[in-house]
Amino acid sequence: MRILVTNDDGIHSPGLTALAKALSKVGEVWVVAPDRERTAAAHAVTLHKPLRVQQCGTRVYAVSGTPVDCVNLAVLKLLPAPPDLLVSGINKGVNLGDDVLYSGTVSAAMEGTILGVPSMAVSQEGQEHFHFDAGARYAVRIARLILKEGLPDETLVNLNIPNRPFKSITGVRITCLSRRRFDNPIIEKIDPHGRTYYWIAGTRVSWSRSKDADHEALEQGAVSLTPIHLDTTNHGVLDRFRKWETGRRQGMGRMAVLPKSKGKQRS
Ligand code: MN
Repeated sequence: MRILVTNDDGIHSPGLTALAKALSKVGEVWVVAPDRERTAAAHAVTLHKPLRVQQCGTRVYAVSGTPVDCVNLAVLKLLPAPPDLLVSGINKGVNLGDDVLYSGTVSAAMEGTILGVPSMAVSQEGQEHFHFDAGARYAVRIARLILKEGLPDETLVNLNIPNRPFKSITGVRITCLSRRRFDNPIIEKIDPHGRTYYWIAGTRVSWSRSKDADHEALEQGAVSLTPIHLDTTNHGVLDRFRKWETGRRQGMGRMAVLPKSKGKQRS
């Protein structure tokens, strides 16, 4: 069994070390991670500059790129064959609700899924003094389940661990992504030269109340497991938008009004 471990906090993050060590009980672990912190890199890919890979140990590589770069290099180049499982983390801080859109940790797992590798993102609640040992034990538990039962098509697992000792975690809850609201997300200040600058900050103030919300599991001291699908199409509203269609739909025998040509084809 071959397991790829990556993250967005960088190769030196203790969360990565704890995860790799714990998963080595499950299979042969390969670590391919960014050479520095790339938190909030989302799904960025480096296209306009070269990537450098530095081997730091047996099956341990640091890459001068994003988490998604790391996954591509690992799966398509560095590993002798695609891994049986990809685990990204353990991130310092939760990736709940809308966080998954910004998170490099989750994007690494998404990229694994795109490449056909069963993938999971693991994040630990908190800002410091992380109980990574507890997070790693839950990561191993779910990793074994994924390896045994597989994952549905185009689906990854987003795991969030409450920051408390293993014994006081109350279990695993299956949850949905929630919505959050930020208070004062843009900070405006003046620099020493008298010029205005901005800082995207914002402290999390409130979560939407929804059924089986991921943040509620953590509030109750439980691990949150959200299955995430790559297809973000809103299938329920397709019919509402179909009346906006123009041109002929293949096989439908129907003609609609074509928009006036602007003359030039967009490339
Ligand atoms: Mn991070």
